[in-house]
Amino acid sequence: MRKIEHIGIAVKNLKQADNIYEQLLGVPSYKHEDVHSEHVTTSFFRVGPNKIELIQSDNPESAISKFIEKRGEGLHHIAFDVPDIVAEMKRLKDEGFRLLSDEPKKGADNKLICFVHPKSSNGVLIELCQEITGDAT
Ligand code: ZN
Repeated sequence: MRKIEHIGIAVKNLKQADNIYEQLLGVPSYKHEDVHSEHVTTSFFRVGPNKIELIQSDNPESAISKFIEKRGEGLHHIAFDVPDIVAEMKRLKDEGFRLLSDEPKKGADNKLICFVHPKSSNGVLIELCQEITGDAT
């Protein structure tokens, strides 16, 4: 894994959270994106070399809504940038980690993603993400 790609924060109200993070970080969100496969809307902020992803869902059955219901708003996942997500998924599987999908999925911000179950990683949901380049969709 190369670096932390972004940190994901679960929020109830994206508009309110956008205002708070804009005040906190001193920069506006540079991108809003719906991820239909996950029933979420995301908002991205850039802080130096790092990114913060705010995540909101209007669907009570979504993973984000269930997370907020159970644990409240807050830190949801840490995403790591990987050069080859398929190879990294295989490596982690071989190491005994439990992945939440067998194939990479299309995530927000032009990425292929896969989550590692938090039970495998001391209670922290880990996201692997690989930048999609060219026509590799
Ligand atoms: Zn993420």
